[in-house]
Formats: sequence, structure tokens, C-alpha cells
Amino acid sequence: MKIHEYQAKEILRKFGVATPKGIACFSADEAVDAARQLGGDAWVVKAQIYAGGRGKGGGVKVARSLQEVGQRAGEMLNMRLVTHQTGPEGQPVHRLYIEQGVHIENEFYIGMVVERRQQRVCLMASSEGGVDIETVAAETPEKIHKVFIDPISGLREQEAKDVAEKIGIPEQYLPQTVLLLQGLYRAFDECDASLLEINPLATADKQVLALDAKMNFDDNALFRHPDIVALRDLDEEDPVEVEASKHELSYIPLDGDIGCLVNGAGLAMATMDIIKLYGGNPANFLDVGGGATAEKVTEAFKLMLRNPKLKAILVNIFGGIMKCDVIAQGVVAAAREVQLVVPLVVRLEGTNVDIGKKILVDSGLTIISAENMADAAQKAVHAARSGSANFTCQCQCPS
Ligand code: ADP
Ligand code: MG
Repeated sequence: MKIHEYQAKEILRKFGVATPKGIACFSADEAVDAARQLGGDAWVVKAQIYAGGRGKGGGVKVARSLQEVGQRAGEMLNMRLVTHQTGPEGQPVHRLYIEQGVHIENEFYIGMVVERRQQRVCLMASSEGGVDIETVAAETPEKIHKVFIDPISGLREQEAKDVAEKIGIPEQYLPQTVLLLQGLYRAFDECDASLLEINPLATADKQVLALDAKMNFDDNALFRHPDIVALRDLDEEDPVEVEASKHELSYIPLDGDIGCLVNGAGLAMATMDIIKLYGGNPANFLDVGGGATAEKVTEAFKLMLRNPKLKAILVNIFGGIMKCDVIAQGVVAAAREVQLVVPLVVRLEGTNVDIGKKILVDSGLTIISAENMADAAQKAVHAARSGSANFTCQCQCPS
């Protein structure tokens, strides 16, 4: 799960991480009020979207008067902000963060991720702050310093000091930086974060400040953090994925035209691979999970059918815990309820497969039945190409 910059900064302040003062707002009038409340003579108007790279896309602007704050806020609200992370369609801006403008001396980069091979949190730090860290990693990897943090001791004072020195934090700022890095690690650990990025960490106005903050959380641990779940901004998420998560379906839209409904993430990946092998393109990843009910399968069909590009559906179920007859009932109920207009290929295997197949045949629906995965994929690819449920394979594809 992701949160906005201003929310991440609120969390980080509780762990002793210094940031400029700021106020979130939803209109140009609120922005002017916020700036007045913050005081000073320079403010930064910052678009709050989940994607990074906002500065380059026009989503971070300095204002030197209250009037300018209002003007910048008005321009930014409701614009579609395009950054290298949003894709060309951009992301509409609904929230702003008005922050005190500071006089930056130097910008640094700090990141933390879970490093699976080491089974530790990895702190990454670089003197090259404020720019794309991906470019630094690709072109000058020696400028990124790493510390693998021991989960028992946490980030030790000496480790924090060493890395701060390596990235060139000036001597007078070292004590503050050590405390800040230790605070960042505690925030990462206690909040079950999966990613934490401060880009830039800046020396400014005699302080070390987190000027930007990105925090993602491990979804598996969210049950421990209702306060973090409450921060979720559904406007920032794909509506189809939000709908899917309500029904506990893992759904990820893709570019192709063959919808896939599969039980189990591994089988779903294999299904997408085999569709590709036979020259087709999956329209989505969809894992209905191990205990799908007929209702869940119906919701899954509805999600796939929202896609205007959809030309065929492939249902690939291995009934282990899941029984094939339950899936078959779900498929029939869904096909009736949603008035299926695209060809439907079904491959069932496993527990109660015969009952399942009989349910499909008895339904009277035009369902293309497949014997195995290869057969199912070929039939789905052909159905998508011909737009027809009447399958006759005429190509040279391997079978
Ligand atoms: P993004 O990474 O999405 O472009 P940032 O929050 O990093 O957004 O802002 C972009 C740049 O704007 C920063 O690298 C920094 O130079 C400047 N900046 C951000 N916040 C402030 C602030 N409060 N005062 C002064 N400059 C800022
Ligand atoms: Mg940034």
C-alpha cells in the first residue's frame, strides 16, 4: 500500500525525522490559508499523487507571495500531472501540500528496502540527491553506499555515521543525520514498510531535513496498522483493482485481449506464459484464490468484461482445494448474469472434474471445452483472433 508524501512526513516526524512544516489542502483558498498559517516568505506548492518525479512534471512549484500560492494551487489542482512514473495519461491532482520553502545547501539520497537475499533491510545512501536514483545506479553505482541493518540491533550509531560521512554530509550535520537515519529505520521497522525513500534529504537552514518522503507498506502486515490503512486514498488507485480487492481477487490489468481467470498465482503466471507461447496476449492477471465461491467467480467475470479490448476469456482451473463443480457453477451463473458476448474457453482439472464438465455441457451455453493447458491456450488465441466460439485450428502451431 502507498500513501502520500504529506502522510509519510507526518509518520516520520513521530520518529524524530525533521521535515519543513506543511499543511495538506484541497482547494486554492485552503492553500492560501495554509501558507498564511505557516508564515515566512516562501512556500512550495506540491501536488500529492502517489507517483514520483513530480518536480519535473510541474507538480512542485515555489511561490513567493500568498497570491502566488493561490495561483499555483489553482493551476495545479485538477491538472493531469504527467511524470515518468504515471504513464502518458498522467494522474489527476486532487490534493496539495503547502510547505515552508527552505534554502537548500545540498541534496542527498536515502532509501530503504527489504533485501530478500540478505533477509535484512538495506539502507542505501548517495551524495546524488534530487535526481533519478535509477540513473545513478546505472551510470555511477559506486556513488551508492549500502548498509544491511541487523534486525536485532537496528541501525547502529557508528554505521549511520560512517554512511553519512561517505556521502559527504558536512561534519556539523553528522549528529543530526545519525539520529535522522536511526529514526527512519525505526519508522520502517515499526510500520512494516516495504520501501522508504527520502529524495532529497537536504541540508538547509542549519538543519538536516527530509524534503520529500515516499513510504510503501507490506500489505501482509496491514492488519497490524489500522491507522495506516485509514490513510489509503482510493482516488490514486486503479478503480478496477480497488473493486477486485473488495472481493479479495488479485487482478492486474494488462495490454492484451484474452481475459484469464485462474486459481493460484503460479498457475495464473503459467497461463499467461502459455497464451504468449501460442501468439496471444493476456488482458489481465487474475487469481481467484483457493476458496473461490460462485459469487466470487461472477465478480471476476464482471471485472474482466469491463475491458473494452477483451476478445476471449480463458478459465483455467486446477481443482485441488477448489472443486471443479463449484467453479463450473460459478462460470455458468456468471455467463448468464453478465450475458457473455466473447468466446469462453474452459479447462478444468482435478477434484470433481467430471461433475464440473457435466454442469458446463448441461448449461446449454456455448463454452469451448479444453483438455489441457496447451489446448486451452491455442483455443483461446484462435477464438480471440476469429472472434468466434466455433473453434477449428488451422494453423501450424505446436499442440
Ligand atoms: P519529486 O521527487 O516528486 O519531484 P520533491 O518533493 O523531491 O518531488 O521535490 C522536487 C524538488 O523540489 C526537490 O528536489 C527540492 O529541490 C525541491 N523542494 C521540495 N520541497 C522543498 C521545500 N520545502 N523547500 C525548498 N525546496 C523544495
Ligand atoms: Mg523527490
